[in-house]
Amino acid sequence: MFHGVGVNAGRVLGQVLQMPATVAEPAVTSPKDAGASLEANKAAIKSAAKTVQTQLRNRAETASAESKDILHATAQMAGDPMLIKAAGKLVSPDAPGGPRSPARAIWEAGQTVADTLTALGGYMADRATDVLDVRSRIVAELQGLPAPGIPVSPAPYILAATDLAPADTATLDPTKVLALITAEGGPQSHTAILARMLGLPAIVAAPGVDGIVDGTQVYVDGAAGSVTTNPDESMRTAAATWATQAAQMPAFTGPNTLADSLHIPLLANVGTGDDARKAAAAGAEGVGLLRTEFCFLDREKEPTIQEQVAAYGAVLAAFPGKKVVIRTLDAGADKPLPFLTPADEPNPALGARGYRTVATSAGVLERQLTAIATATAAHEAEVWVMAPMISTAEEAAQFTTLAKSAGLQTAGVMVEVPSAALTASAILSSADFASLGTNDLTQYAMAADRQLGPLATLNDPWQPAVLKLIKLTVEGACQAQVSTGAPKPVGVCGEAAADPALAVVLVGLGVSTLSMSARSLAPVAAVLATLTMAEAQRLAAVALQAVSATSARESVREQLPILAQLGL
Ligand code: PEP
Ligand code: MG
Repeated sequence: MFHGVGVNAGRVLGQVLQMPATVAEPAVTSPKDAGASLEANKAAIKSAAKTVQTQLRNRAETASAESKDILHATAQMAGDPMLIKAAGKLVSPDAPGGPRSPARAIWEAGQTVADTLTALGGYMADRATDVLDVRSRIVAELQGLPAPGIPVSPAPYILAATDLAPADTATLDPTKVLALITAEGGPQSHTAILARMLGLPAIVAAPGVDGIVDGTQVYVDGAAGSVTTNPDESMRTAAATWATQAAQMPAFTGPNTLADSLHIPLLANVGTGDDARKAAAAGAEGVGLLRTEFCFLDREKEPTIQEQVAAYGAVLAAFPGKKVVIRTLDAGADKPLPFLTPADEPNPALGARGYRTVATSAGVLERQLTAIATATAAHEAEVWVMAPMISTAEEAAQFTTLAKSAGLQTAGVMVEVPSAALTASAILSSADFASLGTNDLTQYAMAADRQLGPLATLNDPWQPAVLKLIKLTVEGACQAQVSTGAPKPVGVCGEAAADPALAVVLVGLGVSTLSMSARSLAPVAAVLATLTMAEAQRLAAVALQAVSATSARESVREQLPILAQLGL
């Protein structure tokens, strides 16, 4: 049995497939190819490229309409005569710098093509990533390694990995993947966020799961955080029971009310227009967090204002008349954007990230606010804008001024740095609202990198220190309301809101909205509907008095029998 931190409940059985390792840069020469003739090396390149092209075309046959086009375009790139010709020149004995191995030749030729595309900018620059993907596939084929990227399997499987990055999972097909299990990664890591987004049971920080042999049958219990090989009969029954419970989970149709009819809006966290449409279909009452950096993660250059207007507009169009909170670019640390964040900081999580890039990248924020204002004018959604990583009242005031001068009416801040929680009343004297980013708030309060598996128990939003910072933020908002006379709402948009038991505590602590991935709306609403505000407040007091994250979680869960009934 392997133990880790459960980040999304659910019990499933299935075969494990490992995420292949990323392809490393090949050495300039390889003993295996050095003795081969020039013709043989050229033929090896051609044949590997052809195999990759065929694999991609075959995958396109069974892919969704959206992925089909992408796969066909990538397949075409694999057969690009320019790429193959350039690689062919590099294996020749007259190549400047001496002959390369076929794998090295493809590696260098791919880089040259990618650099040329990047220099062209716009649409062409976006294709550079695809060329690099094709290059890795051809190199893996030449080296006899498994193809990089999400494994392809006709049968559903449990995806195991050391950790998963946003780029790895872009092509993950949720109808094929039953659960995610990773050896590293914390409860707020990308793997955890993705699992909740896709509604997949998931366990992170489970050392050893990245060594399970492909095809091994395992039982995954997302609530308990355990992975068991050779599952027994009781586990088969548990998985079957969970499948029934999951199928019976009442759909969320909103508005979300407590048992005493109090309305606590449930909003969605989204990254694209597609996410927003899915969130609207899942009953979201609006968007509590549009992570704008997710629209542009693969960009080398700042997107134009028109591109930004289109990306934000696609989200606003899904929520006419509803609240949509747009967060300005939160680049840095786990989400680097080459045009905004320095690549050489020794400690990027504590570096020039989030709002701080206003000082290092002149004009980017102003142009983004213009784009948001333009998209707002063209749609009916009620747009709120907020800045990430605000640490001081001065920063909050500067941002609010910038946003208002761009014509945006409601400007607020994320509270995700402990200093912001501690000075919430001063911050909210200028900002119109606050949104608690519990993922970063936890990592900074506990000084524990949210991406590090071994620190997962520290990186837990149930930690007493984190709950106290949340309480302080709500109290700061009340003080600010008294002094400014205007209501200063405090929502939560970190992953904490997606944990149904913690959602109860957050409501009891006084937060006014909860924002989460669309899949979490139904379970959170089903649990909140069983409690009155007085009961939520009592459970918040129970959590606040606990001396550890574990005892806070266990004492609250014990008093919520609905969780077991719903399989949560
Ligand atoms: C957070 O930190 O809680 C948050 C919502 O922002 P992100 O996860 O995008 O850093
Ligand atoms: Mg954050």
